[in-house]
Amino acid sequence: MTDSAGPCLNLAERCRRTRALGPGLRYVLWVQGCPFDCPGCLADLWRARRRNRLIAVESLARDILDTPEVEGLTLSGGEPMLQARACRRLIEQVRARRPDFTLVLYTGFTLEELQRSGHGERLALLDQVDVLIDGRYQAEHNDNRGLRGSSNQRVHLLTDAYRQSGTAYFTDPARRVELHPRPEDLLMVGIPPLGLDPALREILPR
Ligand code: SF4
Repeated sequence: MTDSAGPCLNLAERCRRTRALGPGLRYVLWVQGCPFDCPGCLADLWRARRRNRLIAVESLARDILDTPEVEGLTLSGGEPMLQARACRRLIEQVRARRPDFTLVLYTGFTLEELQRSGHGERLALLDQVDVLIDGRYQAEHNDNRGLRGSSNQRVHLLTDAYRQSGTAYFTDPARRVELHPRPEDLLMVGIPPLGLDPALREILPR
């Protein structure tokens, strides 16, 4: 998508500083729209393929670079691969100033599906990813552990950025969420422990 300010991302939400979705302090963007329909999806409002908040890539890159101490970006959704071109431009613009800036990406596609697709924009985004967490959410495989929704979702360390911490960093820890107060509501960030989300949904006006 583009507007007068150039290419845009269609966003559902953002969190500028969190420790709940990847290594270190991270900037998180949840994109709007997903082609999948996983039963039990916790992001149901973000699945609809509709225009939500269009924000220029250039402005997002500036904001990321102006946010102190963050070591990387986490992209989730929704489905980031539906907006692969804008996501790639975003990380390239950030890395033009911060070459060490890391990228963790959650996708409902499997790595093999992406590789087989021959979809140039998606493969180009994949080339930028340090850690890919792939596959559709399967509620029956929600093992209540780690930074993925269900145990069928795999963690691919595609670069050396987090090789030292290994995949266990993403698959093993007890889950925790952060609640970020905003003027009109609370934003929950992280993979919710089993049983937490229904209770929170009653108080969060999402
Ligand atoms: S891929 Fe993710 S956002 Fe899309 S329906 Fe499945 S759980 Fe929801």
